[in-house]
Amino acid sequence: MSKNNTEQKLNCANNVATTQRIPIQVQPVQNRTHHQNNKIHIRQQKGDLQKIRTGMNTLLVALFFLLPFISYQGRQAILFDLSEQQFIFFGTTLWPQDFTILAWVFIAAAFMLFFVTVFLGRIWCGYLCPQTAWTFIYVWIETQIEGNSNKRVALDKAPWSGEKLKKRLLKHSAWGVIALLTGCGFIAYFIPARELYIDIFTFNASFWVTTWVWFFAICTYLNAGWMREQMCLHCCPYSRFQSVMFDANTKTVTYNAVRGENRGPRKRNQVTNSGGDSALKLGDCVDCNLCVEVCPTGIDIRNGLQYECIDCGACVDACNQTMDKFGYQRNLISYTSENALSGKAEPFYESYKFIGYGIAALIMLTVIVADIHTRSNIELNVLRDRQSLYRETNDNKIENSYTLKIRNKTQQTRLYRIYVSGNNGYRLAGGVNLKIKPGEQLDYPVTVVAEPESFANSHNEITFTIAEQHNYGQVSQQSSFFAPI
Ligand code: SF4
Ligand code: SF4
Repeated sequence: MSKNNTEQKLNCANNVATTQRIPIQVQPVQNRTHHQNNKIHIRQQKGDLQKIRTGMNTLLVALFFLLPFISYQGRQAILFDLSEQQFIFFGTTLWPQDFTILAWVFIAAAFMLFFVTVFLGRIWCGYLCPQTAWTFIYVWIETQIEGNSNKRVALDKAPWSGEKLKKRLLKHSAWGVIALLTGCGFIAYFIPARELYIDIFTFNASFWVTTWVWFFAICTYLNAGWMREQMCLHCCPYSRFQSVMFDANTKTVTYNAVRGENRGPRKRNQVTNSGGDSALKLGDCVDCNLCVEVCPTGIDIRNGLQYECIDCGACVDACNQTMDKFGYQRNLISYTSENALSGKAEPFYESYKFIGYGIAALIMLTVIVADIHTRSNIELNVLRDRQSLYRETNDNKIENSYTLKIRNKTQQTRLYRIYVSGNNGYRLAGGVNLKIKPGEQLDYPVTVVAEPESFANSHNEITFTIAEQHNYGQVSQQSSFFAPI
């Protein structure tokens, strides 16, 4: 044991000193000590980081459920209205042709995620990922009903009895309710939320709405109740390519092997190797195994950085609790970087990856702002009459006909005025004022008239402008006017 630990300590120290990329290890399942029939029974941990994680998870879950209930300008503020093919976001309506902005948003989000990952590792996974948030909710329910991790392991092993059946029924019912609410919460982004909840719980929802709610409810139940860390280990692509983003300055949950080894049990307040000369010949790790028991992915962080680690910080809080009990300095396990551990004071902002991802994220955010700033709430398409190039009227004028396809992209009824401009004294024959309902596209036929003597060419430019009458914007499009030259 002692020889192995010494080798491990030296290996860790060598790794810290010589490598640029943090080694990622895959540990065999049998090394994970709090499994029962391949199920991890997480021990619940309290601590500063867990307070932050719980707070962030609570905020995330509250936002998820409450956002669909926020109204703006008389409509649900965030709504992917599939039947109307529009996405409403706080008064801004995006149509399928505007969806490039969603592509920019996803690309910007990816670069921001990479940017944060270079600096703080998989902080997203541990503190904001819905998979983690819902898993911890399910574990909390499990703990309230079946007890702490030891009691849950005992209950798993126990033969079926009335008590076990009652606890299991209660737990799965509570999980089911959360899953059903989550299914409703998700579909509420696609169907007006207030009607949805009433329809689902009064059994008045349509077949397809009910099917989708149950589909997402079952996914939630299976993911958070049964699959849990398996999703992170086998399904999430992020865990697989995270090591590409890490560098020696990335702050990630790390065990200080130089300080901790040799590990071993001892009485409280004994001076260790890290505290000076000691007859104990032990490092600060008291081998209490708490860091393993609280780990939601079932790993032992003392074996080095592993791709299963989601940076949730539970082991940091657990180890700090042990360090406090034994009177040792905190942060034997902490968010730290390879460079910090080896004493190299290289600032994180000197990392070329950090700068690169930061610049890429800034560029994408600029593109999004520019896209929003330049987009118009009116859509105009001018189609020339294909039947004839021009007509000569009884009073010797030249006229061309067009169809204006005008869409009001807002959520309010708007009044518009049509203008024509060009070098040939164009004039609109007929009405120039329009009223268009929210989201409606109007096919509006117009005729433009001009004097024949104003033309030097047969093919002339003409510009149509649609202006909102209360200065909510305008849009123009060029077309052609033909004359008999
Ligand atoms: S090793 Fe620590 S930080 Fe990583 S997943 Fe396990 S408990 Fe969370
Ligand atoms: S919690 Fe800390 S002291 Fe206990 S086994 Fe883990 S690293 Fe060692």
